[in-house]
Amino acid sequence: MHIQVENAACGLCESAETHQHLFTECHWGNTLRKDLANWMGVELLRGTIQQILAWIKRRRCKQLKKEAVAAMYGATIYYTWQARNWRPFRQEHVNTNFIIKQIKKELQVRLERVKESRKARNCQDLIQRICGR
Ligand SMILES: [Zn+2]
Repeated sequence: MHIQVENAACGLCESAETHQHLFTECHWGNTLRKDLANWMGVELLRGTIQQILAWIKRRRCKQLKKEAVAAMYGATIYYTWQARNWRPFRQEHVNTNFIIKQIKKELQVRLERVKESRKARNCQDLIQRICGR
């Protein structure tokens, strides 16, 4: 992924904004990832996006779980970029709790859609955790 970022302060905190900072180090995105990994009952992964995706791919676990974890990391990148852009242009500070709720809702919808499928059959713990009340 090569999104150009200017050499200025991070749009979400006071650190210098680099690609590496924004997508892997910034506490704003880390707050999302920590909360969501805990909610999903999965280990929190650290590193670059490429490292995280490679790790998920290599990992021995159910396909659906891998997809859900990859979707979660993908969502945190999407929302980090969005929040970073909203700050200067809309003068809006995006609240992490609001985004966490949004991502949870999206993951629930995605899993609800496949929960009767074959690949969901051996992944009931995750389905229960995310879609169960
Ligand atoms: Zn930052």
